[in-house]
Amino acid sequence: MTPFSKLRGTIPERIAEIRRTLPQSVRLIAVTKQVSVGAMREAYNAGIRDFGESRVQEAEAKQAQLQDLTNVTWHLIGHLQTNKAQKALEQFEWIHSVDSLKLAQRLNRLAEQLPRKPQILLQVKLLPDPNKYGWSASGLLKDLPELNRCEFLNIEGLMTITPLGLTDPEVLAVFQETRELANKITRQSWPHIRMNQLSMGMSNDYELAVKAGATMIRLGRVLFGDRPN
Ligand SMILES: *Cc1c(COP(=O)(O)O)cnc(C)c1O
Repeated sequence: MTPFSKLRGTIPERIAEIRRTLPQSVRLIAVTKQVSVGAMREAYNAGIRDFGESRVQEAEAKQAQLQDLTNVTWHLIGHLQTNKAQKALEQFEWIHSVDSLKLAQRLNRLAEQLPRKPQILLQVKLLPDPNKYGWSASGLLKDLPELNRCEFLNIEGLMTITPLGLTDPEVLAVFQETRELANKITRQSWPHIRMNQLSMGMSNDYELAVKAGATMIRLGRVLFGDRPN
């Protein structure tokens, strides 16, 4: 994996530099797992309004300390256990990591009680990857009729994480196939499933993701440096 320990510039400078290269329409989510609230404030002051966290509990502690920041949108990007689903719905506007029918149905039941529908993305892995959760393409297509019944969720698109060790052309192909899967689902015209969002691309590969049509990119290390572990 590319090391990001020798990044140049301050957090605001890095944010500005990356933004310059992005199309206006791409939403930059600052991934702040293991990042201090001080660094998060710096990112906010540089214009970041979207924070991505992997763990419900870590996010809860930071949200308590950052209550004064206005117009922030919180995104859950890490695997969610069903027993934390209620908390996740309370804390996050977006859940990118809905990776099974069981989890979607659980969120749907809980969301019935909420004042607004949560925005969710369906996590897919188009190549087998023992380290990652998510639907295969065929598995997702099979589950669509059931997902379409989750009427208390706003299903907005797909999320993916590429496996380690691929070449750039291979990574690009995975992103393009993810977009094609979203297009295929759109053509099926499910009343309760939209495919307008593609959350794909991290520090290593966001340029390829943008090329393939990502609407949201999730950047951690390239903004904040390497994480301790
Ligand atoms: C940690 C993480 C990111 C950010 O990764 P970087 O390599 O730090 O940019 C993005 N998406 C998910 C799902 C993550 O867990």
